[in-house]
Order: sequence, then structure tokens, then C-alpha cells
Amino acid sequence: MLLTDLRDLQLQDIATLLAEAGEPGFRATQLCHWVYKRQATSLQHMTDLPEPLRQRLQERLYVSTLTLVRQQRSTDGTEKFLFCLEDGNQIETVLIPAGDKCTICVSTQVGCAIGCRFCLTAQGGLVRSLRPAEIVSQVLSFQEPGKTPGRTFTNIVFMGMGEPLDNFQGTVQAIRILTADWGLGISPRRITVSTSGLVRRLEAFGRADLKVNLAVSLNATTDAVRTQIMPINKAYPIETLLAACRAFPLAIRQRITVEYVLLRDVNDTLADAKRLVKLMQGLRCKINLLPLNEIPGVPYRRPRDETVQQFQNYLLQHGISAFVRQSRGRDISAACGQLRFAERTTKRLTGQASQATMPSPLAAQGEQGCETSRAAATLREGKG
Ligand code: SAH
Ligand code: SF4
Repeated sequence: MLLTDLRDLQLQDIATLLAEAGEPGFRATQLCHWVYKRQATSLQHMTDLPEPLRQRLQERLYVSTLTLVRQQRSTDGTEKFLFCLEDGNQIETVLIPAGDKCTICVSTQVGCAIGCRFCLTAQGGLVRSLRPAEIVSQVLSFQEPGKTPGRTFTNIVFMGMGEPLDNFQGTVQAIRILTADWGLGISPRRITVSTSGLVRRLEAFGRADLKVNLAVSLNATTDAVRTQIMPINKAYPIETLLAACRAFPLAIRQRITVEYVLLRDVNDTLADAKRLVKLMQGLRCKINLLPLNEIPGVPYRRPRDETVQQFQNYLLQHGISAFVRQSRGRDISAACGQLRFAERTTKRLTGQASQATMPSPLAAQGEQGCETSRAAATLREGKG
């Protein structure tokens, strides 16, 4: 029988599962406490559960963790972590320190199906969406004792590999775990989800009422240009997207972040700035300008610094909060649009099957870590 990953489950799911096994309701909270407050990665660690119960649960449940394959540090302090999933796929997570803040940038998919022309993640297409556990574990891997010493975070952005709303269930369930009292208890105001604008999903995301911040990648002021650089615009043109943004439920003082990747001579002209001001009417927003991080195989260029400055000034002069987001971690390809899963290893399974835990101390693992975790997954599937 396939084992269920505890980190994929909501409190209620665990309670139902335990009730079926004739266990009292409080056991579900007890399990979550072990998984999220004490970072237990094995049922055997949950010492206040009776041993026979642990044995029985072990036949149905396990706790997944990510395997760290590689870690790189930028000259600006940004760090990039390449994690291996149980099936051998790889994802990247970025840690961005800035002043007294430190932001974790999580991935929601292996690759991406949306196909934005300026983004490296798009180039491999979509391999698969992440399970909630695989999203949550990116955050938890910075909290697991003894694993990543000294790394604390203040904010989480869903801006890594993938389109969060194309993995709607994975994203929503992960956010519930991250924000629940029984989970990680992180304030939703410290979480931002960025989307390329899947409008129907955006509406559903609003109805899910998660109270997190929303960022929308607009990136153009005319449908012709947006369709050229973001094919999703054919399905959901600018006006449709902005109407959904205006209808999106916001708390008092909460604003939508409109992201705008600046491409030289494509969307960085004064005419664009003027149109952008008009488009923003009636929308509680701030604008993040992202000068393109140039990537191989893409015909677009980064604008000149003066152009970026002029663009920002125009917005500011017309009463719009506009920030230029400095690229972080470009030297280690950790900046926006530069994330791309590494090639899947083709080596044969050689590792001893073992629990797929993150190595300690953090060190380059090479491909072996992947092989080991895949072997562990195979073992799990064979159990029961
Ligand atoms: N898929 C989501 C979130 C991940 S991309 C989205 O598109 O919103 C996060 C941000 O990086 C988006 O605003 C996107 O427009 C931006 N981005 C993508 N490629 C980039 C590049 N090469 N340079 C600068 N920003 C880029
Ligand atoms: Fe996907 Fe976002 Fe990259 Fe577009 S910018 S391809 S939606 S990750």
C-alpha cells in the first residue's frame, strides 16, 4: 500500500484517518505538533504516542523531507538551494536576506507550463506540480534543527519555479498548513503569492479567503505586447485580468503588487508608463519594476538604468507607488526568471535505501542524494 505523507494532510484529514483507526481526536493535534513544531521526520520520534499506535500508523503514514543536492551563495548574501524530490525531480528555493528581513522564495512546480518568453523556467515546460508537502518542506527545511543553522526567515514569496495557480490545490493546501495554528503558524500577511494571471483560478483563490498578499505579473500595457511576451494573455487579456484584480478581496491597507518586468524597447517607453498609470486606476496597488534578468536564448534586453529611473519617476509623479526591485543573486542564477530545474540524473540507483532526510551539515551532495531519496520512495511504495 502507498504510504501517505503527513505533510500533505490538513488537521481534519489526520483526524479522520485516526478516527477510522479508533483513536481520539486529540491525537491529530499531537501528530501535527510533532511534525510542525518539533520537526519530527519519523513516527518513531513521536515518543508520547503509544508504541503500538506508532507501529500501526507507520504502515500508513510517513513524513517526507527534501534532500539538499547543492547550495550556492551569492556575493550579495542571497542563497540558492537545489533540492531533490522523492521521484528524482529537482527544484530550487532561494533565501534572500535584506536588512532585517529574510525572504524565502519557494517553487510550486517543477518547470512551468505558462511559457513566458523572458523566463528561463518556461524553457523546459512543465514536468509536474508539487504536492503541498513539497512546498511546505521548502520552508521547513530552514527550521529543522541542526540542518540550516542561523537561517531564520520573516517572509515567504511564491515566486520560485512554476505558476502557483496552475497548481491550485498544492498552493492552497500548502498555505493552509503554513498559516494554521496547528501548522507553522506563519501570519498570512508575511506570505505573497505571485501569478501570471490565470483569471478563473484567481477568482477561486480570492474565494479561498487565505488572506495572503497577491502579486500579479502584468508586464505590459497593451494586449499585443502582453500576448507576445506572455501567451496566457490570449486567454485572459489585460482588462479581464485587471477586473479580477479589482474584485479580489483585500483587507484594509492591503494592496495588490503589480509586477512589471521591463524589457528594453518592448514595454519600457514613456507611452507604456502613461498607459500603466491609466490601467491602475481604481486598483489598490503598488508596482514593482523588475529590469529584465537576461537569460540565454531570449531575444530581450535589460533596459538602461536611466530608462528604468524615468519609468519609475513617471509613475511616482502620477501618484503610484512604484519600486525598482533590485535583482538579487544574479551571479548564482537565483534571480527572478533564472530558476530552472537541473537535468535529471541518469545514473543508475546505487544508494542504500534510507529515509530521505536533508543532510547535515549542509554540504554539496552531488547526485547521490537524489538517488538515495528515490530509492527510499520506491521502498515506501512497496510497503504494506
Ligand atoms: N509564475 C509566477 C511566479 C514566478 S515568476 C509569475 O509569473 O508571477 C516571479 C516573477 O519573476 C514574475 O513577476 C515574473 O514576471 C518575473 N520574471 C520572470 N522572468 C524574469 C526575468 N528574466 N527577469 C526579471 N523578472 C522575471
Ligand atoms: Fe511560469 Fe512565472 Fe516564468 Fe511565466 S514568469 S513562465 S508564469 S514561472
